[in-house]
Amino acid sequence: QAKQAGRNTTCFYDPEIQSALEARTQLERDLRLALERQELYLVYQLQVDTAAQPIGAEALLRWQSERHGLVSPGVFIPLAEETGLIIPIGYWVLQTACQQLLTWQQNPKTRHLVLAVNVSARQFKQADFVERVRKLLDETGAPAHQLKLELTESTVLDRVEETIEKMKQIKELGLTFSMDDFGTGYSSLQYLKRLPLDQIKIDQSFVRDIHQDPEDAAIVKTIIAMSKALRLHVIAEGVETEAQQFFLMEQGCEAFQGYLFCRPMTASELDEQLLITH
Ligand code: C2E
Ligand code: MG
Ligand code: MG
Ligand code: MG
Repeated sequence: QAKQAGRNTTCFYDPEIQSALEARTQLERDLRLALERQELYLVYQLQVDTAAQPIGAEALLRWQSERHGLVSPGVFIPLAEETGLIIPIGYWVLQTACQQLLTWQQNPKTRHLVLAVNVSARQFKQADFVERVRKLLDETGAPAHQLKLELTESTVLDRVEETIEKMKQIKELGLTFSMDDFGTGYSSLQYLKRLPLDQIKIDQSFVRDIHQDPEDAAIVKTIIAMSKALRLHVIAEGVETEAQQFFLMEQGCEAFQGYLFCRPMTASELDEQLLITH
């Protein structure tokens, strides 16, 4: 705790800062125990094609804490990244995703779904990441070609040569890659051309304002056109209205994810949903 205060260099004796630090330390302590307390779980958000048929899902992590209630991923994921906890947590996510894919194999309504998993930079950069993914696939017997890893621009742009090599090795295992939150980072087209990506995911901030902000509309158009030119698949996230979907479709976007189609839900809720609507 003293170490954290020292790092922050703000006044150690300010009672507000002091209590904020204590709250953070408590949160960190509880996050450290969350895995063994089985407080973490995954929810799944469907991804659909232009006919609104399910083609995949994204796994999203949730933390239902005994002490803190449902903690937002926007809070605990950065904390997990700072503390390194994202590494064991990230493997738990991958393992759970593999098991979910196996369960989905048993149902004709879900057996074709591709499951996308967010991988944080810190985990991806581990020297033994490829080996551990390989081992996980061996141990679980999950269908590798139905597992997709979502990386962000900042993850891939740091040490590009190394990243490309690693991505190639993982692709050899059968997995595919999507570039998450595309447009919010600093990808150069030079790198984009060389990365062994399969899909670009248009960030929801651009989708949100398609109809209010002509510049966002122009950016979305450009990202879709560029994806096509580079022969990459493209998906839009955060699609909430039909108007947004129509605009995206008109520009040639082929896949969609957002509240318009489906909220993130537990696997059993998703089963039910698919039973009713598809
Ligand atoms: P992301 O990967 O960009 O995930 C998309 C986020 O958008 C999710 O937030 C999802 O619930 C939300 N979303 C989906 N559809 C809509 C919509 O129509 N409108 C709006 N406004 N939002 C929508 P969530 O679940 O809170 O996750 C936030 C971020 O936390 C994720 O952003 C991802 O960066 C990170 N994250 C989530 N799960 C994991 C994980 O297992 N590992 C890692 N490393 N990061 C994760
Ligand atoms: Mg994502
Ligand atoms: Mg995203
Ligand atoms: Mg995001």
